[in-house]
Parts: sequence; C-alpha cells; structure tokens
Amino acid sequence: MTSIPQVRKLVTAIPGPKSQEILKRRADAVSAALGMAIPMIVERAGGGILVDVDGNSIIDMGAGIAVVNVGNSADRVVANVKAQVEAFTHTCFMVAPYLGYIEVCEALNRLTPGTHKKKSILLNSGAEALENAVKIARSYTKRQAVVVFEHGYHGRTNLTMAMTAKNMPYKEGFGPFTPEIYRMPMAYPLRWPGGAQNCASDALNVVIHKMEKELGAKNIAAIVIEPIQGEGGFIVPPKGFLPGLAKFATENGIVFIADEVQTGFARTGQMFASEDEGVVPDLIATAKGIAGGLPLAGVTGRAEIMDSVHASGLGGTFGGSPIACAAALGAIATIEQENLCDRAKEIGTIISDALNAMKAKYSIIGEVRGRGAMQAIELVIPGGIEPNPVALTSIIKFCQSEGVLILSAGTYGNVIRLLPPLVIPENLLREALEILDRAIAQA
Ligand SMILES: *Cc1c(COP(=O)(O)O)cnc(C)c1O
Repeated sequence: MTSIPQVRKLVTAIPGPKSQEILKRRADAVSAALGMAIPMIVERAGGGILVDVDGNSIIDMGAGIAVVNVGNSADRVVANVKAQVEAFTHTCFMVAPYLGYIEVCEALNRLTPGTHKKKSILLNSGAEALENAVKIARSYTKRQAVVVFEHGYHGRTNLTMAMTAKNMPYKEGFGPFTPEIYRMPMAYPLRWPGGAQNCASDALNVVIHKMEKELGAKNIAAIVIEPIQGEGGFIVPPKGFLPGLAKFATENGIVFIADEVQTGFARTGQMFASEDEGVVPDLIATAKGIAGGLPLAGVTGRAEIMDSVHASGLGGTFGGSPIACAAALGAIATIEQENLCDRAKEIGTIISDALNAMKAKYSIIGEVRGRGAMQAIELVIPGGIEPNPVALTSIIKFCQSEGVLILSAGTYGNVIRLLPPLVIPENLLREALEILDRAIAQA
C-alpha cells in the first residue's frame, strides 16, 4: 500500500515556487521539443495522487498515459524490482538468458486472446513493438503493404510515424517516411458522413473495397489497428467493425495486428480490449501498462508466425531487461490478484455516469465514449460537431489550478481523456469528476 495520503491538497499555486525553479532548469537543459501536460515537478506518487516538490497533492487522472494501471510504486512491482536489482541488472537476453523474460512471455501467451499456441518477444517501447510486429508480418507473409487507419497512433520512430495518422506534432518536418503504409477511413461514429447508425457496415465496406481494389488483398502483409484508438481521441469503433476486419484478414492470409499498447492490461475492463467482441488477433503489440511504469513492450502471437523469422532476426540490447521483466511479473500478479479488470469496469461506470450527467447539462459535450477506465468526452461548438479545442484548453487549465491532472487527445485537439490508475480511491475519483464538472461549467 502506498504511504502517500490519498487526499487532494494545494499549498501553493501550480506551479509552486520550487517547481518553478526546477522548471527553469528544465527549460535550460532539456530540448524545447518535449511537451509537458502539467507544469509541476513530481517528488512522489502512489494510488491516485502525485505529490510535487512544493508539497501539493494532485489527483492523477492520466496514470502516465495508461502506464501505471496498478498505481505508482505498486507493492509487488517494488518488491520484485528490488530483488532483481540486487541479483543482476543486465546480461542481454540474447547473450545469456534468464527466467524473468521467459515468465513474462508465458504470461503474455496465457493472457492474450485465443487458445492457439502462442509465442512472444520483448522490447523496450510501444513503437518498437509495432516495428517488430510489422517486421514479423512481412517476413511471414512475404508481402509488404501495411494497412493502418485514420486517427491511429502507433509511435514516433520512422516506421511508426508513417503508421501514425496525425501530422502535427508527430510527423511535421520528420520525413521522408517509409513506403508501403496505407491509411484507411476509420469507423468513427460521431463523424461518419452517413451517420453513426450506418458507420460499422459503411466503413467496413469502404475499407474492404479499398484493400481489394487499390492494394490487392494478396499484397497486404498486415492490418494494424487499435481496438479503441488512444491518442486519436478514444474512438470506439462500432460493433462489427473489428470482427469484420479480422475476418477479411483471415480469409486473405493477412496478419491481423492489434495495437493494444494503450488498451491493454485491464484498462478497458478486460485484460485486452480485443476480447470485447471476441476478436482473436494474429499478433498483439503491448507496452504501456505491462510493467507498472518500467519500460517494457511485447509482441505476442501465433507460434507459426512468431517462429517464421530466421534465427537471430529479432532482438535488441535492452529488450526484456531483467528489471523490467521483474516489474511486469509484479504488475501482472497485481492485476490478477486484485481483480483490476473488474475494478476498471466499476471505474468506467462511475466516470461514464458522471460524464453523461454533464452531457445533459453542457451543450459543448458532443459525445461521451469509451470502455472501462478509458473514458472521454469530445468537445464541440454547441449545435453541431465542429471541434472545440478552445474549451478543452480552458477546462484543462481550470482542473490543473484545482489540483487535478487531466490529459487531452484527439486529431482535432478537442477530446478530454480520463484514464486514472485502477487503484485510485473512489472518493478521489468522484472529487476529480466534480472538479471537471465545474471546469466545463466555467468554459
Ligand atoms: C503510446 C502508444 C504507442 C507507442 O508507445 P511508445 O512506448 O511511446 O513507443 C503505440 N501505440 C499506441 C496505441 C500507443 O498508445
């Protein structure tokens, strides 16, 4: 259990004087290209609270972007990491293997959807997992084309920049991008031209038509999609879209890759979001929530696909670090033993009830959407669906000044996304939602 008192407490403005001093050093020493969601310097964190150097306690509604699902410094993570650091810190799994890596792969093979024989590899980051998933799919199929979707986010390396939809800030000026990446329309109900009720079947028809007529199904190595889009604005595809894509992939020898980097590890109320409609991806990319805050990522999938790459074709110096693996085993045990999937569902109900009540009051809320502890509101100009990024900025600033950290998202910069740690105490969660309500009222 975290020893940090689970109460919101403001003793200075945000940022306080000590944070301001350190933020000056940040500006002097750190590249100006890095963003910052909240101007504060963290000293400790646990449960649903971030404590800054001035002694302010902020409610954490972001979990480090869906990373500390089990909370910061979760007991089992801390204990495992301490023991591992004392035993050894690195050998390189490709040089001299160790048990922790194998146990994480066993856990991923067991926990990901599908009862078929699975195998895994471990990497350092979500982007690296996506890169490897594409490498494996291309090697297995001997094909090159990769299908991705509007509003999708897959990372910031060269290949994953090409796969990511949004230019600013992720791609601007960073080209040339890798070829053979094809972006398809996304089933985005709120903004589907033919209306939300037709979105699933229309979108599926359009995407399949484009794959068949423009690419040729036999040239496609992989279809890569987030089961719920994260950075793109928590876009939940309508029922039928994902199973339809998966079916088309299977029928045409295409590897169906689920990017569960943000949706994985209990976030949506199931261990993986693909489970919601019984989709069984051929490969699954994981990262963020896998190791309680340590950098780790995985690719898990059908054994015949994972084994199809030539010997020594995959790897990396730090991938599956023993310390990150120890942390992952602690995080996974926490999710399972503390029933955090069920808890994510309960959190989701509390959040969506509150957000829907706000929607009834405030016409700038165009839509409330999400699943489990991954909920969002899309802000619009009242009366239509024109994006309202101005309101978003004002709401986030208000929440910060009241001691609540809230993250934004969305292609149009108009989505508030709520993804608290799954161990956040209920009173803190409700308090954060009340402050969000006031923030929207003043916007
Ligand atoms: C964050 C994210 C990535 C990239 O992960 P990094 O660890 O930042 O490289 C890829 N896909 C999705 C869906 C993500 O949310």
